[in-house]
Amino acid sequence: MRKTLIAGNWKMNGSQAAIDQLLSSLKASLPERDNVDWAVFPPSTYIAQAQSMLEGSRIAWGGQNVCEHPEGAYTGEVSASMLVDFGCKYVIIGHSERRHIYNETNEQIAEKIVIAVEAGLTPVICVGETQAQFESEMTREVIRTQLDAVINHPEGKEAISRSVIAYEPVWAIGTGLTATPELAQDVHIRIRSYISENVGKKVADSMQILYGGSVKPDNATNLLAQPDIDGCLVGGASLDPTKFIGIGKCKN
Ligand code: PEP
Repeated sequence: MRKTLIAGNWKMNGSQAAIDQLLSSLKASLPERDNVDWAVFPPSTYIAQAQSMLEGSRIAWGGQNVCEHPEGAYTGEVSASMLVDFGCKYVIIGHSERRHIYNETNEQIAEKIVIAVEAGLTPVICVGETQAQFESEMTREVIRTQLDAVINHPEGKEAISRSVIAYEPVWAIGTGLTATPELAQDVHIRIRSYISENVGKKVADSMQILYGGSVKPDNATNLLAQPDIDGCLVGGASLDPTKFIGIGKCKN
């Protein structure tokens, strides 16, 4: 039985004061029902604040990115062991903003996934097609190529078996457009089948596959009702505690 995960990617937003308010509200309004796992992804400068406010709560925290190298002369980067040092459980890897704005490659992303797992983190591996690729019906091929880079890494199968996958169509991120629940379900089941064929059925059956792209409380019920959608990666709406908690409450 896969538990639902509702994860909030705060991107480059916040301040100490705003995060204090946001986390206090989240903690105070978390539903008593424990059918959902919660996680937030603050900017790296605020991870220590999240740790001190969330330790002992039911909300986990993680990094938005990680370096593919363990340590050394990589100015501006944050290592997997540093995230672990601050209590992170998860790390987002391969978000479309990293792929498209910072030109991260599939191979670099695979290295990050492997090093994160070796440090004890659970990667949230983001995959998804751009609008042009969607319109050219390339979704399946794009996602397979993104997953193949991980699967074909010498340590990749083991690493992917300890990861969460997030299907995030790039055209739906921050745009207000959302994949229909049927379309998202179709992509999710294809991802699960691909993992089953190339990594193993047991891994595929237990793997949490999240949907991300303009998720809000008013579209989350139908998304979370799909059999292969095991949660959501939420951007904009995760900065509003009522909306973020509201999304989790949509899970029956
Ligand atoms: C995201 O950044 O991962 C995301 C899904 O953003 P939004 O919910 O704002 O579309």
